[in-house]
Amino acid sequence: MSNIKRISILGIDFDCLTNAELFQQLQRDLKNQTRRFIVTANPEIVLYARQHPQYARIIKHANYVTADGTGIVIGSKILKRPLPERVTGFDTMKKLLHLANDRQKKVYFLGAKPEVLKTTLTVIKKNYPNLIIAGAHDGYFKTDQAITDSIQQTNPDIVFVALGFPKQEKFIYQSYSNSHAIWMGVGGSFDVLAGKVKRAPIFWQQHQIEWLYRLLQEPSRLPRMMALPKYLCLVLAEKFHLIKK
Ligand code: UDP
Repeated sequence: MSNIKRISILGIDFDCLTNAELFQQLQRDLKNQTRRFIVTANPEIVLYARQHPQYARIIKHANYVTADGTGIVIGSKILKRPLPERVTGFDTMKKLLHLANDRQKKVYFLGAKPEVLKTTLTVIKKNYPNLIIAGAHDGYFKTDQAITDSIQQTNPDIVFVALGFPKQEKFIYQSYSNSHAIWMGVGGSFDVLAGKVKRAPIFWQQHQIEWLYRLLQEPSRLPRMMALPKYLCLVLAEKFHLIKK
């Protein structure tokens, strides 16, 4: 674990891991019941962390920080510290679901709108019948502590937190102590599992244009996507030592 190489992009340290390597680590972690905190960071998260030091500090506590987005891999190449490949939150979540199904592990699902969560749980029961649903709660609650307590009471092996950033990482950081679970922020992944939002077909993913597919599906994301050019400019500035890391 400690010998995984880390690569800094604009102050965020990314693990130099392929999908297969991360999965191997997670298989071990699940077997040994080692508490873990996974952040799958995209350019938006990198920019947000730059502007919010408290959030950046939370990310420093993560055990794994993966490159969730082509922009991160491109950034690493520009800086001549290449990350091997994209390791997305959705793909990692799917692998953990398979693993939990194979090993009959307990999974807690937190987040998304009530109707999305309901459909997500139906899909989980159908596709992963041996996985044990430890519990679930939608993402629109008032007090974090009550939710944290109810998660801890179910003693889960894996907790998926689909609240979007920065909420999900903040929630995990304040909730994950006294637990042996793997905690992971999964953004809008329940919406994809529930079929409310479609993941880009393989062609788009392989050609590094998944972001375009997502934009065409949800044009309201355009202001959020403007983070990408800003991020790339900052990466170039870092490369030429025009800014502090
Ligand atoms: N969400 C939530 N509670 C909140 C805010 C957001 O459960 O207070 C959910 C929202 O319903 C959606 C997810 O968090 O399912 C955020 O999705 P988004 O597409 O923004 O995440 P991304 O995949 O871009 O990180």
